[in-house]
Amino acid sequence: MSENIFITEERIDGSDDGPLAGKTVAVKDNISTEGVRTTCGSRMLEDYVPPYDATVVSRLKDAGATIVGKANMDEFGMGTTTETSYFGETDNPAAPGHVPGGSSGGSAAAVAAGEADLALGSDTGGSVRCPAAFCGVVGIKPTYGLVSRYGLVAYGNSLEQIGPFGETVEEAASLLDVIAGSDDRDATTRETPLEADESYADAATGDVDGLSIGVPTELLEGADEGVVETFWDALAELEDRGAEYHEVSLPSVEHAVEAYYVIAMSEASSNLARFDGVRYGRSGGYDGNWNEAFATAREEGFGDEVKRRILLGTYALSAGYHDKYYKKAQDARAWVKQDFDEALSEADVLASPTMPVPPFELGESLDDPLQLYLADANTVPVNLADLPAISVPAGETDGLPVGLQLVGPAFGEERLIRAASALA
Ligand code: GLN
Repeated sequence: MSENIFITEERIDGSDDGPLAGKTVAVKDNISTEGVRTTCGSRMLEDYVPPYDATVVSRLKDAGATIVGKANMDEFGMGTTTETSYFGETDNPAAPGHVPGGSSGGSAAAVAAGEADLALGSDTGGSVRCPAAFCGVVGIKPTYGLVSRYGLVAYGNSLEQIGPFGETVEEAASLLDVIAGSDDRDATTRETPLEADESYADAATGDVDGLSIGVPTELLEGADEGVVETFWDALAELEDRGAEYHEVSLPSVEHAVEAYYVIAMSEASSNLARFDGVRYGRSGGYDGNWNEAFATAREEGFGDEVKRRILLGTYALSAGYHDKYYKKAQDARAWVKQDFDEALSEADVLASPTMPVPPFELGESLDDPLQLYLADANTVPVNLADLPAISVPAGETDGLPVGLQLVGPAFGEERLIRAASALA
């Protein structure tokens, strides 16, 4: 257990029947578990014990799953390496000495290390797909609205979805079957498009005969050479099995990282206002001055990355700057959506490397936040467009895992699962 995968190791035994009976599941520590500490990787919530379960957790319990612990993560989901966690870094079981990716690094590492059969993460801008790619496992970011966010501690609520990890596509899909579908407690959700006798797991047939794959050239530009080589090898494998690929273009994605960070930080600055030591979070004490009490709680409770984002988000939303940043970012978001619609009218799915780089060495990337934000170039456009995507192991470069990302049309998870299951 030297990898520091869990923040809280506590077992909630499942029942003997249900589709996940006998399966162990790690749950990211921003997903509420009744009676079990839920920290979001933050000192702010070091002692917070939720009084209720997130909808996905109730569904896990109903399905008979055994929860084995709350997995480490970047503080409030803000990061790409799991190194911003107040509880320390997690080592990558598939590439020791390297980061497991983030922000759901503990969840992916739990599956890669065999500490859990399955895991839940959340993906605001790549936080399921990035750690899946870096740890050599499968991760699915569902279409916005397929999975309930009730009980997920919000970071960028218009962008994020809870998503499953597994060692194979079929296993990850079996967890999606349990968590997907409408929930009265989250008005953005809707029913899955599956017929009564269908399941996502059943879609994992590996059949890619006749599948047309669009490769957005913009998502290969600037990527690491070894990553690109591994990506093409995986595409060749899909071609051998009857798929066809051609290049497509997503001109708007050059603005996606900027737009994503403006929107995500703006939403974060608002969502994190509740952590003031009174409504939620560690107390800042009270000495006759509430301003000071709130300031102390936030000064002591939040780490540097969270503070940076609250400051930038508050600035982007402030009077006089709102149109210049937030509104522009929303326009860019609409443009990205439109580009994906067009590209997906010319192909069944789109393929790219999940991450443009292999996993960083531990400690390598923390002092250059801008460089780190750019590593999200291939994942954030998908969240801006509300679309589903999957990351599946494509192979290795210099012994480090590389992930292949497939993106599909809204509520087209079955198609992605069928295609990706040809590789894992
Ligand atoms: N790395 C991105 C960020 O820091 C994605 C995070 C996420 O998906 N939660 O915002």
